[in-house]
Amino acid sequence: MSFELFREGGPLQAKKTGQDQYSMSVSIPKDEDGRSARECPNQECSPGYFKVTPGTGITGQTIAYCPYCRKSAEPSDFHTKEQIRYAKELVAREARIGIERAMREALGLGSGGKRRLVDGLISVDLEIKSSPPSHVWRPYEDILRRDLICPHCTLDHSVYGFGVWCPDCGKDIFTAHVQGEIRVIESIVGDIDRRKKELGSRVAARDLENALEDLVSVFEATLKMEIRRHRKAKGDGDDAIDAIMKKIGSRLQSISNAIAIIPDFCDGQSLCAPDCEDQKKLDLVFQKRHPITHNLGVVDRKYIDKVRSGEVEGTEVRVEKAEILETAKITRRILLEFHNKLFTI
Ligand SMILES: [Zn+2]
Ligand SMILES: [Zn+2]
Repeated sequence: MSFELFREGGPLQAKKTGQDQYSMSVSIPKDEDGRSARECPNQECSPGYFKVTPGTGITGQTIAYCPYCRKSAEPSDFHTKEQIRYAKELVAREARIGIERAMREALGLGSGGKRRLVDGLISVDLEIKSSPPSHVWRPYEDILRRDLICPHCTLDHSVYGFGVWCPDCGKDIFTAHVQGEIRVIESIVGDIDRRKKELGSRVAARDLENALEDLVSVFEATLKMEIRRHRKAKGDGDDAIDAIMKKIGSRLQSISNAIAIIPDFCDGQSLCAPDCEDQKKLDLVFQKRHPITHNLGVVDRKYIDKVRSGEVEGTEVRVEKAEILETAKITRRILLEFHNKLFTI
């Protein structure tokens, strides 16, 4: 007996394409902003997960790129495991419906699923119980993300962590990510006056402290990524690079230390000239974050000895709004210039 497992059409637009062969189309759900998820086919890639807005960027794209490791492959190779599971479950659901239908037809069961066969003394009740088609879960989506439009091909996409490459055109858009991160900090700082009015001066002060902490994090994380990428391009293996990063430790949280050590790891390339104005300014502000984070804003003697900034022990270290915005500007300039020095396009 032969039966058609799938009927043509239906929710998946099934089409018979050959003996026991069907083609079906599953539309991948988008998030509330119209983006659909992608996953790098390289298993080693981390975080390997990103999103793109269909219809932006390159049309008729034949090659897609991973924003983290630049693996290139056909766009369909970037479907996420969740999307593949989702598609398979939708197809399995249709198959179960098809099998059930075929069984009803074969057994001559009515729509109620029951038939009584009477043959002499034996009566057999046949019944088919249909279980409701199982619910198909939508792909799980992470809520932490960074949105970006590629300055080269206008692809609207999201990454989770720092991305380097545009998923559509494959160009280096690392500095766009860095600028995006700094812009987030600037917009938090830009909202301080309203927050102060609404939530009080302590909240506004903590916002500024957090913004400074975030700025130092962006500075350190960016330099770490640049060094990693530079070493990788030089042919260093992951173990050798990990050893270098261990050696560097947290020293890139200080601009003076960064200026001193970067040439050693980047073939003599300097972050910026030693003792330049930018260094003095950033040193002063970056240093403020130690008493803020370790001591809840109370200056200790070590800090005073180190910076000799005129703050008096026991008083709160003030981080001013203008100071953070100026620091953000300098940080952005230093990081962009360094990137262009290290990776001339
Ligand atoms: Zn990747
Ligand atoms: Zn692009």
